[in-house]
Amino acid sequence: MPTAVLKSPPAGMPTSIVLTDRTRVGGEGTVHFSTDGKYAIKVYHGTPVEREKLLGYVMTIFRTIPRDQERYILPPLALVQSLNGKPCVGFVMRRVEDRYRELVDFVLHPAAAAAQFKQGRTWADYLKLARSISSALVVLHGKGCAHSDIHFSNFLADLRDGSAVMLEVDGVVVPGFLPAQVAGMAGFMAPEIVHRKARPDERTDRHSLAVLVLHTLLFRNAMQPLIDYATDPETSEQLGWGEMALFSEHPADRRHRPKALGVPLFSRGCLSYTMLTEELRRLTDQAFMAGLRVPDDRPTSRDWERALACAIDELWPCTRCRQWFPYPHWLVPAERRTCPFCGMRISPPAPVVLRLLEERGKTGFYTTHRRVVLGSGFRLYADVVDPSRVPPPSRQQEGHVAHVEWDRVRCTWRLVNDNAGVITSSVDGARQEARRGSSIVVEQGAQIHFGPGARMALVVQAGA
Ligand SMILES: [Zn+2]
Repeated sequence: MPTAVLKSPPAGMPTSIVLTDRTRVGGEGTVHFSTDGKYAIKVYHGTPVEREKLLGYVMTIFRTIPRDQERYILPPLALVQSLNGKPCVGFVMRRVEDRYRELVDFVLHPAAAAAQFKQGRTWADYLKLARSISSALVVLHGKGCAHSDIHFSNFLADLRDGSAVMLEVDGVVVPGFLPAQVAGMAGFMAPEIVHRKARPDERTDRHSLAVLVLHTLLFRNAMQPLIDYATDPETSEQLGWGEMALFSEHPADRRHRPKALGVPLFSRGCLSYTMLTEELRRLTDQAFMAGLRVPDDRPTSRDWERALACAIDELWPCTRCRQWFPYPHWLVPAERRTCPFCGMRISPPAPVVLRLLEERGKTGFYTTHRRVVLGSGFRLYADVVDPSRVPPPSRQQEGHVAHVEWDRVRCTWRLVNDNAGVITSSVDGARQEARRGSSIVVEQGAQIHFGPGARMALVVQAGA
């Protein structure tokens, strides 16, 4: 059996690792897997000794990362000294379980997603996946590093729980310390890299992240050039992704607009970013319009992580195709609200839409970008009213403070207090109160309080 010997491994790691015969050959090196299923080893082609020093830096950077962040990345844990007795340059990392597949298999085109939908996955799972991808970048950027090669083959994903793991952390960039090993993948590189050969850094990562997040949500590259810019295909590509880079849904310039944009996905259509929550649309505009040529203006990985986490509270199920998507409460009249997947008009009653407010010192409450959409049986989770929290990656362990029910007799929504102290609601001087087990009528324009220190909710839509 092939065996790798490690160079002074940290406590808790073996000094040598027995490997299976299975390997994965990449551009930079070959990845081997340990027989105990715990580790993977990357051995670089040739013996690039200068790489060892860089790996040493990377190991120091990621030696201490919080436990809840470990799952998103695979940092080098120790250097490899030899493989089968032969000196080599490489490192050992945690091995990802076999249930993970390359992200590209799920998001490359609508057919890839449709195959997943047939197996019971929904767009909500893709939303979680996009969040995990952003979280991986938050870990890297939080350490002052950039990835420089963000694309859909450098993430492993499991759609069943929406988890994603970032690969190629050994190639991270730290300005002044670690130079970029690669420029990135066509289609994901920031325009200034394509056009002016700018160096990859955290700000170019922000562009690549926006492209990857949108690709995960819309199953297409939102920056795909759709016209020729030169007779030579290579020059045309260079211009289309670089100097002439243009958001496919730019409101004033329709050169890159897909023909079937906004047609329901299941009718051979093409999802539009206008199906996304207001906050995700705002970040997309910021990334692909205001920040397209002003890298400092692009949203950060943390901005994306937060907006994607909160978007989970705005989802609504289609009664026909069973897909989940952000409820388009901003479309007026309500008859314009349709399912972006099958085109079915969303049937009444319209759900409750709350806007969350937070207390700021003695000055009172201020509005946040967060909204919560609630239909029959939907729960209002404890994290929603806690001003220090965003929705956790999984709510299996999360308690709830209330739920919503449709009152068939009065044709109104009711908010039932399941676990809060006292819920109060006030509008135009009229006040309602619900202790545990009792409920209030959800009224348009009402302010709902969940107790001292909690977020407050403003009812922006109450059915009809
Ligand atoms: Zn539908």
